Amino acid sequence: MKVDLQVNPIETWAKTTHKPLIIAGPCSAETPEQLLATAKQLKELGKVDVLRAGIWKPRTRPNAFEGAGEDGLKWFADVKKELGMMIGTEVANPEHIELALKYGVDVLWIGARTTVSPFAIQEMADALQGVDIPVLIKNPTHPELGLWIGAFERFHRAGIKNLAAIHRGFSTIDKSKFRNVPTWSIPIELKRIAPQIPIICDPSHIGGKRDLIFDISQKAMDLGFDGLMIETHIDPDKAWSDADQQVTPSRLGEILRDLKIREVTSDNQSFNDSLEDLRTKIDSLDRELIEVLTARMAIVEKIGEYKKDNNVTTLQVNRWDEIMKNLTSLAQKMNLSETYVEDLFKIIHEESIRKQTEIMKAVESKA
Ligand code: PEP
Ligand code: MN
Repeated sequence: MKVDLQVNPIETWAKTTHKPLIIAGPCSAETPEQLLATAKQLKELGKVDVLRAGIWKPRTRPNAFEGAGEDGLKWFADVKKELGMMIGTEVANPEHIELALKYGVDVLWIGARTTVSPFAIQEMADALQGVDIPVLIKNPTHPELGLWIGAFERFHRAGIKNLAAIHRGFSTIDKSKFRNVPTWSIPIELKRIAPQIPIICDPSHIGGKRDLIFDISQKAMDLGFDGLMIETHIDPDKAWSDADQQVTPSRLGEILRDLKIREVTSDNQSFNDSLEDLRTKIDSLDRELIEVLTARMAIVEKIGEYKKDNNVTTLQVNRWDEIMKNLTSLAQKMNLSETYVEDLFKIIHEESIRKQTEIMKAVESKA
């Protein structure tokens, strides 16, 4: 599947001359002083393209700080006038959009909790019909690529061509060092099927802790992401929301200084030649893998026939457990990650079971 949307590159709307695009600013606009002081230091870094601040905050439970609302927009507009920076905020309904436009917000983004709702997205797309403003769409809280793409399609149909994705990770019930697990395969798949949509990484909401921000940002740069959105606060520990994950403007400066920015291609001929050579080897190994999987499946089918004839279940838990134990210990010896080998063989085993179930069914329908 390919997604056929006409989306403009970031440079169309952000006057950025450098890569990646940097969006920074506090999780929430708290007071006029906090917003201005943070913004001034960010401006001094000379690398921040868009100043972010949450005006309406989607909090998990009521009674937490829910944002400064229209007052915050007034402070934001003043900061924009004083410092000449582009400003951006999260909107979640047509009323937010109307107010954001009234106060001169330059960039809108859709929060993760809103992307999950096609009704909310459609209402906002309708409100933006005929308005020329960039809309950045955060991934939905759960890893469903279709829902993310659907949001792009709705805004695109309303005429918005300045679109970008924000990868902010996904909720999980599993124990994890991340606040929201990155599951990089989802944004990578988005990049594959819709390479025209720029992707910005939000390491703050992925990490949930400021110590994780550099590594997540570097990983995004290694993958060729187009931008970063990093929560930055003049006094992070005193922040009214997301205190653990915000960094000071000077820490942001260090992060941006130390990040290695990679290019998608290189004009170094000898690098390109070696790459080509290694890729030929990979292609040939991949072909061998397919041949081995085909030979394996032929035996799986034969076993399926025997099981059918002898009225034995497709799933043999002890055997499966033994295979997994042997393979993960082999993986360890060979220096391959155990979870990698485990995940791979779960897929292989699942397909074997599916094939054998098909064989069993064929018997039942014959009988
Ligand atoms: C935010 O950017 O402050 C925010 C609420 O993010 P998310 O929608 O990713 O949770
Ligand atoms: Mn936040």
